[in-house]
Amino acid sequence: MSNTLVLRLIEGMAGTIESHADQLTRLDQAIGDGDHGINMARGFKELAAQKAAIAALPLGEALKKAGMTLVMKVGGASGPLYGTLFIDMGKATPEAAPTLADLSVMLDAGIRGVKARGKAEVGMKTMLDVLCPVADTLRSLVDQNETDGLDERIIAAAGHALHRTTDMVAKRGRASFLGERSKGHLDPGACSSALLIGAVVGVLAPSSAR
Ligand code: ADP
Ligand code: MG
Repeated sequence: MSNTLVLRLIEGMAGTIESHADQLTRLDQAIGDGDHGINMARGFKELAAQKAAIAALPLGEALKKAGMTLVMKVGGASGPLYGTLFIDMGKATPEAAPTLADLSVMLDAGIRGVKARGKAEVGMKTMLDVLCPVADTLRSLVDQNETDGLDERIIAAAGHALHRTTDMVAKRGRASFLGERSKGHLDPGACSSALLIGAVVGVLAPSSAR
């Protein structure tokens, strides 16, 4: 993956988070403490400030450095979890430019880290409820060697999965304190995950973003 591509990925993610920070905050006001947009915007702004230094590194190291930055700057519950996602993806990154199959393996590794760190699984109304279905979709498309329209299918999987968090009862994080009352709202972390996936797909497969 070229330096320019990593630069554009950072810019894409930071831009999406910045322009949706208010929405993320509103979602977190409904079932949390209202800081998710602020947390994410702070972390991704710092990532954007360091983009040249990060993009100069080999991809695995770039992902690790980005993850450390997110751990330090995002804060809250989501900072260490997003940090782990990036760091563990970095550890699973091959030296050669990653293929789609490599990306699938990297995402699976990152998700394993998030699950372990947050002691969470699918269905608990967290970021994992978007990340896991997206990883499953990517893995099955790669396994079937069906890469036509992969970008649209990933975006659709993320949107569909995000929507499904509305009916879930939160079992982790602050929203879990609300019990049944956490129903009826999108999960903020699931929403930021869907936004980040949209940004990444928009950069890697720009035709789908038009
Ligand atoms: P905080 O809850 O500390 O205020 P944020 O508001 O930044 O942190 O992030 C909240 C989001 O973090 C939730 O919407 C959820 O998606 C995610 N989250 C919280 N706890 C966990 C966990 N144990 N595992 C996975 N994701 C979690
Ligand atoms: Mg919060």
